[in-house]
Amino acid sequence: MSTKRDYYEILGVSRNATKDEIKNAYRKLALQYHPDRNKTPGAEEKFKEISEAYAVLSDDEKRAQYDQFGHEGINSRYTQEDLFRGADIEDILRGFGFGGFDDIFSRFFGFDTERHEQRRGRDLEANINITLEEVASGTTKQLQLQRLQKCSVCNGSGAQPGTRISTCPVCGGSGRVEKVSSAGFARLIRVETCSRCRGSGSIVENPCRECRGTGLVSVKRTINVSIPAGIEDGSTLRLKGEGDQLPRNGQSGDLYVNVHVYKDNRFERDGADLYYTAQVNFSKAVLGSIIMVPTLDGPAELKIPPGTQSDTIFKLKGRGLPKLNGWGKGDLYVKIKIKVPSSLTNEQKELLKQFDKLGL
Ligand SMILES: [Zn+2]
Ligand SMILES: [Zn+2]
Repeated sequence: MSTKRDYYEILGVSRNATKDEIKNAYRKLALQYHPDRNKTPGAEEKFKEISEAYAVLSDDEKRAQYDQFGHEGINSRYTQEDLFRGADIEDILRGFGFGGFDDIFSRFFGFDTERHEQRRGRDLEANINITLEEVASGTTKQLQLQRLQKCSVCNGSGAQPGTRISTCPVCGGSGRVEKVSSAGFARLIRVETCSRCRGSGSIVENPCRECRGTGLVSVKRTINVSIPAGIEDGSTLRLKGEGDQLPRNGQSGDLYVNVHVYKDNRFERDGADLYYTAQVNFSKAVLGSIIMVPTLDGPAELKIPPGTQSDTIFKLKGRGLPKLNGWGKGDLYVKIKIKVPSSLTNEQKELLKQFDKLGL
């Protein structure tokens, strides 16, 4: 997986290439390596490689995900099928007179593109907010959300129990129909999902009363989301199969949970390390002192040696956050800011004057 080459490198474009530059690069390479035209060994592999790179980089969301997290981010978030969803590769290839998506991708990638549309339920998205303490310990949050689930009365078939389901007369049960159109002298055949049976291949004669024949009902459910310790603000967790379900044997969609960490007004965070700024009276800084600093497990003592200067940083080892997917913890850095008093009593002023006379 890590041996995968960089998508930008594959297409030979720079990291800040425009959409047009990316498209032009792909068109050029696709024409050069398309297996219908290029029979040299390795051309097919190369064609797959450039097509994948283009599918990712031509899509704003996928490109952003890739820029931020690399191949890892893409692999954890998209199936290979999702990767190509929405890409205009088919139009580009057809423009060259090559076969379209069905032709190419079922051949090379083994996708079942005809039934594509009803194979997976919709993906859902939710947001969770957590505190920095919860980042430190890891936590489980309950999420309430509505999703489409298989109707329990008809078990997702859409038919009133005990009634008949017949084969769709339009597609003969295949769920697909061929649409023929002509462009000049060429005849284009496109396979589409049957609109009569919506790809199911069957017609329900007596629709289930519970789900009105859809096979699905909207259900409000509570699920527990476990959030790993050390998670970064803005991370997205993928809960496989927790999205909308589909009737019959369709696959469920996924649930994406965006995790936001509340701003903590004591600490700044950098990965597993925390930063805190401590205000220290100038006399304490001069004479040395023990001050109390907040940590995520309660206040801790910090020894300030005599003569501590402003902006000095002390490290409290292991008092940061747990490292995500790793061992150990980050550190807490305490930066000292020396407070110069702005109002003094007469006695304090007198003492400081004497101190000043003694010189340094
Ligand atoms: Zn039902
Ligand atoms: Zn049909």
